[in-house]
Amino acid sequence: MKAANSSVEVVKRGATAAGAKVALFDFDGTLSLFRSGWVDVMLPMMVEELQRTGSAENEAQLRTVVRDYVDRLNGKQTIYQMIELARQVELRGGHPEEPLFYKHRYLDRLHRHIRHRLDEVRASKVAPEKYLVPGSVALLQLLRDRGLRLYLASGTDQDYMRTEADLLGLTPWFDGGIYGALDDYKSFSKRMVIQGILDRAECSPAELLAFGDGYVEVQNVSEVGGFAVGVASDEPECRIVNAWKRDRLIGAGAACIVPNFLQLPELASVLFAQ
Ligand SMILES: [Mg+2]
Repeated sequence: MKAANSSVEVVKRGATAAGAKVALFDFDGTLSLFRSGWVDVMLPMMVEELQRTGSAENEAQLRTVVRDYVDRLNGKQTIYQMIELARQVELRGGHPEEPLFYKHRYLDRLHRHIRHRLDEVRASKVAPEKYLVPGSVALLQLLRDRGLRLYLASGTDQDYMRTEADLLGLTPWFDGGIYGALDDYKSFSKRMVIQGILDRAECSPAELLAFGDGYVEVQNVSEVGGFAVGVASDEPECRIVNAWKRDRLIGAGAACIVPNFLQLPELASVLFAQ
């Protein structure tokens, strides 16, 4: 069932978020585009590391290996991708660095790549909308108007993502809180944020709505019985659906797929029709 590339694709017919009381948002690739292109920084770095082991696999084969686990772990804290890199180095007979070492190397490269974006928003040279998935603010407004409590949870380090959320003007929308990765990586996960919401009886599983471009948040929410919207944007323009992301998000349990939030009335009718 392939919908027009610019509209809302319903994957789970009959699923509804009509009773939703809480919405959980992922940050990067779901609302923020500051880190757009991060995969093109992470992948080559990891392929380089695996090549250093002297593996007989060629570059294309290593890219496939890396792409597969990077994508599967997308949405979890960055350190998990680095833990897997260390494991893959070891599997090939190499001597891996500590995962934290790899993470710092990756973040150094990524920050060089994206620094100018934050700077131009900070200096008011461009509007924050340049780095938001189109339609984000109107969607947040609509959800708050319906009385939903909003949470923001990211696998990006908390200090960075809070700064970036501030620059994008997103902070005031999230009355439930803004959560990111901590140095003690076992003390935070999206699953823990979800469990906390359910344990505090803020909503039942069926009243939980989530928006994410990553496997992890979509899977976490759909497996507890919530409604997950898969954001399969073709970044950075975010005008059409990215087929790779779409397929992965449907596999993770997305109830519907959007390329952005511009078709808001249509999205609202998919979400909230009784
Ligand atoms: Mg994301």
